[in-house]
Amino acid sequence: GKKAFIAGVADDNGFGWAIAKALSQAGADVILGTWVPALNIFETSYRRGKFDESRKLSDGSLMEFAKIYPMDAVFDTMDDVPEDVKANKRYAGNEKWTVSEVAECVEKDFGKIDILVHSLANGREVAKPLLETSREGYLGAISASSYSNIAMLQKFGPLMNKGGACISLTYLASERIIPGYGGGMSSAKAALESDTRVLAFEAGRKWGIRVNTISAGPLGSRAAKAIGF
Ligand code: NAD
Repeated sequence: GKKAFIAGVADDNGFGWAIAKALSQAGADVILGTWVPALNIFETSYRRGKFDESRKLSDGSLMEFAKIYPMDAVFDTMDDVPEDVKANKRYAGNEKWTVSEVAECVEKDFGKIDILVHSLANGREVAKPLLETSREGYLGAISASSYSNIAMLQKFGPLMNKGGACISLTYLASERIIPGYGGGMSSAKAALESDTRVLAFEAGRKWGIRVNTISAGPLGSRAAKAIGF
């Protein structure tokens, strides 16, 4: 079967989970990258059976993940990680969670993969209009929501099988005004969409893989509820 790595699953409400389920249903092995601060509660809830109902596949069996890695997509190597994050209790208990380290671990544990899914975004000031967004908030939104996709492709591209596919999730606010989708998140999605075109050109030639983004409709995920959508 195909092997898929999905970054951005920490509960059973978001797009990442739904993609994991569709891929499992189609017979793929699904590997997850879960945001470090969300990992503990995700694994605990998983173990306690909180997701059992939503894990059900059409044949009645429960979806299993091949492995769940801790991951933080705003850091590429340990050298990028500031001391306060390293010392943070939720991070200190985990290791090898930067993008390059996760890619190395996936390659070591599973070899080549076929499908790469970027289903993550973060913008600290998303509730603020763009006109009131700080430079730090804006750059943070771009880092977590746009550059993270480039970083993932950089590090995972070399371990993808020819003919493989990368997908990310974007939102209409990149091209039309959606009040409330602030903090530079509209900019981040516009960058993600432009990057998708450029990366498809580059990665297609370099590794023979496809790069696409899907502009998803509104979904009441954790991320969406956090901004009152
Ligand atoms: P979600 O909360 O299920 O997924 C977002 C995930 O990103 C969470 O699991 C969170 O833990 C993770 N994350 C945040 N920062 C991270 C980091 N630095 N490193 C690694 N993981 C990190 O919400 P969702 O709405 O399903 O979001 C998935 C994608 O879909 C996002 O790109 C989002 O912008 C996009 N999208 C959502 C909607 C919507 O209405 N919900 C619409 C269009 C596009």
